[in-house]
Amino acid sequence: MVACRAACRSEINRGSILLNKASLEAARKFGRTLERTQYFPEERMLAYQRRLLEPLLRHARAEVPFYGNRFKVLFDRNDDIRWAAWPDIPTFTRKEAQQAGEQMFARNLPVEAGAVEFGETSGSTGRPLKFQTNSLMRLMKGAVGEQILNWHKVDKTKSAAFIMDHKGNHPLPGGSKGHLWNMEKPDSSVFQLSLGYTVEQQVQWLSQTNAKVLISYPSNAAAILKYVKDNDLAAPFDTVVCNGECLTEDVRQFLTKDGDIKVVDRFGASEIGPISAACPENHTIHHQFSEIGLVENLEPESDVALTSGSGRMVITPFYNYAMPLIRYENEDYIETSDKLCGCGRTLPIINKIVGRRRNLFKFANGKVRWPNFDVTEFMPFLPAHQFQFIQKTITHIDVLYVHDGSSREPDAEKMKTYMQGKLNEKFDISIIKKTSIPKLRSEKFEDCISLVE
Ligand SMILES: [Zn+2]
Repeated sequence: MVACRAACRSEINRGSILLNKASLEAARKFGRTLERTQYFPEERMLAYQRRLLEPLLRHARAEVPFYGNRFKVLFDRNDDIRWAAWPDIPTFTRKEAQQAGEQMFARNLPVEAGAVEFGETSGSTGRPLKFQTNSLMRLMKGAVGEQILNWHKVDKTKSAAFIMDHKGNHPLPGGSKGHLWNMEKPDSSVFQLSLGYTVEQQVQWLSQTNAKVLISYPSNAAAILKYVKDNDLAAPFDTVVCNGECLTEDVRQFLTKDGDIKVVDRFGASEIGPISAACPENHTIHHQFSEIGLVENLEPESDVALTSGSGRMVITPFYNYAMPLIRYENEDYIETSDKLCGCGRTLPIINKIVGRRRNLFKFANGKVRWPNFDVTEFMPFLPAHQFQFIQKTITHIDVLYVHDGSSREPDAEKMKTYMQGKLNEKFDISIIKKTSIPKLRSEKFEDCISLVE
């Protein structure tokens, strides 16, 4: 069981579930390409990626003011690309993208990129990011989304329920109804409900829709399942397609415990598109979608590239021409592997989506640590039914908890020893009793947050 539930896969492609009819044929065609590319040898994939990167780089250089001279190192005297210089292109963060504002947007788009689409992240990491994408990217997202359903053999004849909307566009009593949640069976219904309703209200709505495929935050799916179990009701879904946050091991185990619910985990962000999804044969690892983006893993406190281990994710999606993101850090941290998966796919492996920068605890001399507290290990010292760790300074961590109602009280000394042992650092702690621990604005909950910059 993993205690730290970093809400790291922030604003997964909300729109991509709902394709539009005009793009269906083109998306299906790309889907057939994906069937082959997932088995490409490394060299062939690299060549494939460079063919997609080159026109994007030339476009960004010509049309996007933000990039200015950023690619100077990349082009030689004959204006050819020197790929060896790729690591010298400066990376930039989500905060820098926010500050750059409209400088990130392309003045003109090639016709093939399609129409510009506008979006805004849900702001789970503070200020929302206004972003642009284009219809070609939506099409690619649709094709990749379909591939994920195919990998996991999701029954596309069933209706789906989509509970992801933050804006209140699909209110009770009925939510709203549409089609095209998948490409193979475009007539299958999809019902949508806005977030923010109680679990009981969601269960009632789900039973009215008779949708069996739930697309939502995994923590929301787990809350629904807990509610129906507590009330001796039947589960209102048999498949959960995860959106919007990390699927933690404890949530995965809870959802799949009885063996009658299929869980499909995926990772992405609105401005980037899909990044990876769980391997159908090895559910604990993800395969990266190398066909639509380049994922790099850099050391947390330097720009040294890692082939394996935990580091900062730097990503370059290939099909966003409206707001090209060349070596963009959205502040997610990942753990990659240089091994090949036993399933036969050659798509690179992400072992774990570790968290966001703010989930990373920081100590003296620039040392950073992932708080890997295990709830089963610290529960003997903390009688909590809800908890949160907040690092206030480089030498102090607050442990917030909601008492579990038992007669036990926290053991601060043992808790401190446990936490220091896990993080291999010295610091003080305060244990603070709360009546509740609020969720963040985006409805997500994070167990470990560092306020140290
Ligand atoms: Zn695999």
